[in-house]
Amino acid sequence: MSSKQNLLDLDRDGLETFFNDIGEKPFRATQLLKWIHQMGVSDFEQMTNLSKVLRSRLTEMAEVKVPDIVLEQKSDDGTYKWVLELDGQNRIETVFIPEEGRGTLCVSSQVGCALECTFCSTGQQGFNRNLSTAEIIGQVWVAVRALEGKARITNVVMMGMGEPLLNFKNTVASLSLMMDDFAYGLAKRRVTVSTSGVVPALLRLADVSEASLAISLHATNDTLRDVLVPINKKYPIAELLDACKYYIKDDKRRKITFEYVMLSGINDSVEEAHELAKLLQDIPSKVNLIPFNPFPNTQYKRSSNNAIHRFTDVLKEAGLVTTTRKTRGDDIDAACGQLVGKVKDKTKRQLKSQQDGRK
Ligand code: SAH
Ligand code: SF4
Repeated sequence: MSSKQNLLDLDRDGLETFFNDIGEKPFRATQLLKWIHQMGVSDFEQMTNLSKVLRSRLTEMAEVKVPDIVLEQKSDDGTYKWVLELDGQNRIETVFIPEEGRGTLCVSSQVGCALECTFCSTGQQGFNRNLSTAEIIGQVWVAVRALEGKARITNVVMMGMGEPLLNFKNTVASLSLMMDDFAYGLAKRRVTVSTSGVVPALLRLADVSEASLAISLHATNDTLRDVLVPINKKYPIAELLDACKYYIKDDKRRKITFEYVMLSGINDSVEEAHELAKLLQDIPSKVNLIPFNPFPNTQYKRSSNNAIHRFTDVLKEAGLVTTTRKTRGDDIDAACGQLVGKVKDKTKRQLKSQQDGRK
C-alpha cells in the first residue's frame, strides 16, 4: 500500500484541510479540484498554476489514483458497462445509460451489499467492503474520460452495487464532489442517492447533503417488505416515510422518487397500487416502477406488461407521476440488480451462469 495521500479521496473541505496542514492557502483546493476533476490531470507536474516547489512537494506526498478499467462493454442500446479493478481483490461495475437529452451514470458504493434483499443479485452474493471516496468518485472520473467525445454525463445515481447510506462518510464526500462547481458541477436534482431505508443515516443525510433521494420501497405493507427488503424489520415503512418527510422539509418543489420493483404475483396487484397511492398521498413523490431483472436461481418473475400497465394507471389516476424504467443493457448484464462485481463466490457464479446459458 502506498503511504501517499490520494487526493481523489478528498472533497473541497478535505482538500482545504490538507492544504492548511501543509501551510498552503485554502484556494489551492479549488485549483486542485479543477485539475483533477475537470481537466482529468493526475500528474502534479502538469499543474502549471502551482509553483514548482509545491508541485514537487505534492509529487512526494500525494497522488491521484483512479480505479483501472479492466473491461468496457457497450450494449446494443448504447449502454456502457465498465468493470473496474480496485485492489487486486475487488472489482466493481459502473454503468452509463444514454437517453433522449440526458446521460445517467449509475455508480456503486460498496463491493457487494450486506442487506440481502431477496430480489437483488448484489444482495444475494454477500458483502466485501465499503468503497473509499476515491473509488466512488473515481467511477465518475473514469466514465467522463471514457465517454469523451461520445457522450456527456448529465445525471449521477447511486444505484449500483451496495447501500450508500451504510457507507455514509464516503458517500457524502462523493456527493459533494459531484455537486461542486469546480469538480462535476451537477445540480442537486441531477444527483440521486438510492437507499433501501437506513432511517438514522437518512435523517443525518438530510442535514448534510442536498442530493435528491430515491427510496427502494417495493412493498406497501410491512409483512411483505420484511421479506423483500429485510432491513424493514428494523426500520418499518411508517418510520421510513416519516424520515422522507423530514428529508424534503418545507421545500415543496422537491420530490422523492419511490422505486418499486415489479414482481409477478408478489407485489403487483391493483389493490397494492391503490395502497401505494394512499401511502404516498402526503409526500411530494414520483414513482419509478422497475420491471424485475432476473438472475440465476432467483425465485421471482417479472410482472407482465399488462400488470405493469394496470398498476401504472391506478397511480396516475391518483395523481402520482409514474414512470416505468426501461430495461437497459441487459445483454451485458448491466441492468438494475444485475451488477455483481467480484465478490468471493464470483467464480462459482460465473460457472453457474454459463451453465444457465448466459454470459
Ligand atoms: N442499495 C440501494 C441502491 C442500490 S440498488 C437501494 O437498495 O436502493 C438500486 C435499485 O435497484 C434499487 O431500487 C433496488 O431495489 C433495485 N434492484 C435491485 N435488484 C433488482 C432486480 N433484480 N431487478 C430490478 N431492480 C432491482
Ligand atoms: Fe443492497 Fe440495494 Fe440490493 Fe438491497 S437492493 S441488497 S440494499 S443493493
